[in-house]
Amino acid sequence: MFDKILIANRGEIALRVIRACREMGIHSVAVHSTADADAMHVRMADESVCIGPPPGTESYLSIPSIISACEITGAQAIHPGYGFLSENARFVQIVEDHGLTFIGPSAEHIRMMGDKITAKETMKALGVPCVPGSDGGVPDLETAKTVAAEIGYPVIIKATAGGGGRGMKLAKTAEDLEQAFQTARAEAKSAFGNDEVYIEKYLGRPRHIEIQVFGDGKGNAVHLGERDCSLQRRHQKVLEEAPGPVIDPETRARIGKVCADAVARIGYSGAGTIEFLFEDGEFYFIEMNTRLQVEHPVTEAIFGVDLVREQIRVAEGLPLSFGQDDLQLNGHAVEVRINAERLPNFAPCPGKITAYHAPGGLGVRMDSALYDGYSIPPYYDSLIGKLIVHGRDRTEALARLDRALGELIVDGVETTAPLFRALLMEPDIQRGAYNIHWLERWLESGPEL
Ligand code: ADP
Repeated sequence: MFDKILIANRGEIALRVIRACREMGIHSVAVHSTADADAMHVRMADESVCIGPPPGTESYLSIPSIISACEITGAQAIHPGYGFLSENARFVQIVEDHGLTFIGPSAEHIRMMGDKITAKETMKALGVPCVPGSDGGVPDLETAKTVAAEIGYPVIIKATAGGGGRGMKLAKTAEDLEQAFQTARAEAKSAFGNDEVYIEKYLGRPRHIEIQVFGDGKGNAVHLGERDCSLQRRHQKVLEEAPGPVIDPETRARIGKVCADAVARIGYSGAGTIEFLFEDGEFYFIEMNTRLQVEHPVTEAIFGVDLVREQIRVAEGLPLSFGQDDLQLNGHAVEVRINAERLPNFAPCPGKITAYHAPGGLGVRMDSALYDGYSIPPYYDSLIGKLIVHGRDRTEALARLDRALGELIVDGVETTAPLFRALLMEPDIQRGAYNIHWLERWLESGPEL
């Protein structure tokens, strides 16, 4: 059993992990940059260590500083949160080489899923449905032309080492292919230092549906249904809901079982998310995230489980505390991401919070590291809070979201909160009739924000 865990992260996700530790009777150690000396996660943890100057590369991404912080405080395990070092296989290896435990999957599984071609090949071999496309990397334009003609236009060219929506280019027709292929390679080279690309059929109006899985590392795994994260801007999620408005119980059980069986077969350990595009009733695997996701609370709400507690238990070598049959879906949950950004252009808007009031009441959860007088530093992600609501059904959850947004006060900086009140008035959102392009098109139509 661990008695001390270090959290290699900041902001709301660091608080989320500290809360789980406290409920489990485990001491927590916060790490922070000099810009975060007054941050909430530092105040809430049992101990804290300053690990470097403000830039992430010199603090939250500094492996030697984080390992030293463990040694100084005697922490036995590291929870990476999301982002930063959470999907860095080299980090996991170093953690283990120091006799510490990484709360997450093995370095081998992280590496396998971090390379998109290997991930796709592995999933395909495990019976997970994939987007039709090239078998592996496409070395030159001639091969690209042959592959694209075989699968049919439009096609999307993607970087093997890609992430964050970069290094992706659409070719609508054969005439676009050369340019798309060359730009994707050049972007991949400059963003990831690896110019290998692959080709996939481009889906015109899919939804983004992801399946939450959990493995015990010993060949057992369960799924916790899906989340619909189709409302995206520049491939960044802004609102997530569970269950998905268009997924029926049979479909959920079928795709959930495919995913749980796949991760069980590779002996996966901990939380993972298998992401799909979903169109005309078919699922197409796009990638697997080997960590806790930002949007995990909607799954926690409908299944009544604590995913961070489960991550810690599995890392301790304990069995999963629930079997597939124990997981009964209850009601509907929606999460909105509150960013310190100025609408309508989403320009980052750091600064001092002059007043903060979090909404409350039945079915409302606010995960945020804000407090009155806090200064949001300009160095990191602009996510300042997640508002999660749970209702007996989707209608009740949406009404609750509107009510909770009305109670939220964040003064001193601009936030994306007004975006969600406007979205709630849209008939398409009320009906759940949206795909991954809906939000961008709606924003282009110039809504009143
Ligand atoms: P990244 O790791 O860069 O986020 P993903 O493979 O997860 O890349 O894709 C990000 C987003 O790009 C998807 O959520 C979807 O909006 C779009 N996308 C990816 N592949 C396709 C495809 N084959 N057809 C249509 N859209 C796609």
